[in-house]
Amino acid sequence: MTKKFDPRKNYEASKKKIGYVPRKDATQKDYDRIGFMSGLEVHQQLLTSRKLFCNCPAGLYHDDDDYDAELIRHMRPTLSELGEYDGTALMEFKTRKEIIYRVKNETTCTYEVDDTPPFPLNREALEIAIEISLLSKLNIVGEVHITRKQYLDGSIPTGFQRTAIIGVEGAIPLRHKTIRLIQLSIEEDACREISDIGHVRTYKTDRLGMPLIETVTYPECINPDEVKEACDYIRFLNRSTGKVRTGIGAGREDVNVSCRGGSRVEIKGVSHTRWIPELTHNECFRQWALLAVRSELQKKIPETEKWNISHEYLRFHSFNFTYAPLIAAKKAHHNIVAVNLPGFRGILSHFTQPGKMFADEISDRLKVIACLDKPNLIHSEELEPAITKDDMEKVRIVLGAGAEDAQLIIWGPEEDMKTALETIEERCKMAFTGVPNETRKSFEDGTTIFERVLPGADRMYPDTDSAPIPLEDNYIEDIRKRLPEEVTERYHKMRDWDIPEDTYTFIFKKNLFPLIERIISELDYDPKFVGSFFGHRLKFVEGHHVAPVNFDYNVIFDLFRFVRDENLAPEIIDQMLPVIFEHPVMEFESVLTTIKFKRHDRTDILNKIPFLIEKFERIKKSTEKKAAADWIMGQLRTSATGNIPLKELFVEINSKL
Ligand SMILES: [Zn+2]
Repeated sequence: MTKKFDPRKNYEASKKKIGYVPRKDATQKDYDRIGFMSGLEVHQQLLTSRKLFCNCPAGLYHDDDDYDAELIRHMRPTLSELGEYDGTALMEFKTRKEIIYRVKNETTCTYEVDDTPPFPLNREALEIAIEISLLSKLNIVGEVHITRKQYLDGSIPTGFQRTAIIGVEGAIPLRHKTIRLIQLSIEEDACREISDIGHVRTYKTDRLGMPLIETVTYPECINPDEVKEACDYIRFLNRSTGKVRTGIGAGREDVNVSCRGGSRVEIKGVSHTRWIPELTHNECFRQWALLAVRSELQKKIPETEKWNISHEYLRFHSFNFTYAPLIAAKKAHHNIVAVNLPGFRGILSHFTQPGKMFADEISDRLKVIACLDKPNLIHSEELEPAITKDDMEKVRIVLGAGAEDAQLIIWGPEEDMKTALETIEERCKMAFTGVPNETRKSFEDGTTIFERVLPGADRMYPDTDSAPIPLEDNYIEDIRKRLPEEVTERYHKMRDWDIPEDTYTFIFKKNLFPLIERIISELDYDPKFVGSFFGHRLKFVEGHHVAPVNFDYNVIFDLFRFVRDENLAPEIIDQMLPVIFEHPVMEFESVLTTIKFKRHDRTDILNKIPFLIEKFERIKKSTEKKAAADWIMGQLRTSATGNIPLKELFVEINSKL
């Protein structure tokens, strides 16, 4: 019999031992203690009509089941020019994935599927990339060299992405510091994944080859908020040109994080910047936890290089399994295998991320590398055991396990077991050295799972199909002259105008600043009103009403001008907007009719006040001023809106009370 061991207590104790603090309670002191370090790769699709290296349309998306043909590929690693296999390549090969591409003729030609060489680089995209590089204070390269970056997960049929550096060594100003930029590249977008089940992964090729830029920062952020601030700034900057795509999936970030003594881990494809603080916080502590696991193991296992796992196939009928996935495995004639991990007691239930433990690190890899869909394992340190104590004891006996060992049970098709066992042993051995280099996939709750092995540095090589493109100085200078006003200046201007800060994201995202500035300067509206109108009212209306495609925001300028010329009070614009938004070509006068607006003389409205004061005192039996003013406002609001500014009306009411 083993000594009494309580996984729940162990989990909580390990969390305490590493000094884990939830994100909401963490201070800079905590981040300094664990050596938080983070940098970004911000991707943004460019607003061009065509793809980067062919003439297929960009930004045209199809439904998953809308396609003309299917292509099937199997990935195979080849030796690099240096005579080595890439780790990622080997991992992908191990998964024995069959990759299926769903192709629609309208958005895919022979280039994307690797049957013809690239067409010349899209000049429109190049120009946008240069423009954003200049805004990011990057030094523009003298000659654009197109290189191939290995991509072996199947998301690009050729197995590589064409990419080119446009600018190097820049900087962006944050509130309290400057973050340096390594570079900005232009590159092709990859396929969109439809599904990944067992050994089959399916993609569609509509997005493949669309131009995007990647801005890479140095890892100079020392807490999660800085990472988010840097990311927001870069995204604002991209959007401020009005030449990038917006909307879901148009901007994605890879965030790399490490703790002191940890490794560079990349969290891929974060689609919302608001997720960044929680994700980077948790990843840094996950690494800190893995370092604690390492020191535990070093104490427990003297000769780690001799360490290995042992396993036994289990006979279903020798146990009283009632756990559904095990019953399903039995029905499917799958293998059920028990694995002994010598010296790992207390490790499997070691805290890694909120709600996760070391055993999840193994489970995640089994899913990705051995293609065992989750749930794919149970183990001896589960907080909610899936099998009885008696059965777990029998498993220990079958394995000949010692008191300090831990056990796993996995199941799946016979042909996946070899890879599964190798994967388990490999992940456990990595725990002896600390934090594996890997890319991880993010979730909204702030946790991450293993995605793939981090590719080696030698995944770039020259593209022999493309000639270098020289960038003449006067060409760059022409672009520089046309640069939009800088984002920092726009920031400051909005602050000076006293526009509420919670509107900035929306205004930059939709590139509404130029329009706001025009309305303020040409039509002489109160800046605070205009800013709030765009950042609050328009945002609300966009979320609740449907505009025709290609809705042109310039109609809002005409609306403001109409209201000014008609001598109406600005609040009426709030009420007219939903109608304009749905029917942008409707005459403004008809819009007023639609919202049942009636013109009233200012004095007529004000003349009603004495009567209403009397009425209030009569029916409410009160002379309380504030209550009276609010009530009278309520009575007059409908007829006053548009005819007299509501603030003015309120002042008038109060003066008569
Ligand atoms: Zn094409």
